[in-house]
Amino acid sequence: MTTQQDSHAATEAEQAWRAAIEHAAGCHACRTRGAVCERGETLLEAFNAVMHQQRQRRNSDA
Ligand SMILES: [Zn+2]
Repeated sequence: MTTQQDSHAATEAEQAWRAAIEHAAGCHACRTRGAVCERGETLLEAFNAVMHQQRQRRNSDA
């Protein structure tokens, strides 16, 4: 049961991370140093949020 939860969490984070890098790979603004891309920032924030959630979840489990 715990393993299933972990793999679901990993998938969630992986999807968020993949969305961010896939966007960056095809986005000129993201690949330009010094440029700010709102979409890229949003995707990275979403990934960070998932990671943060998982860390909190793990803390409350322990
Ligand atoms: Zn971008």
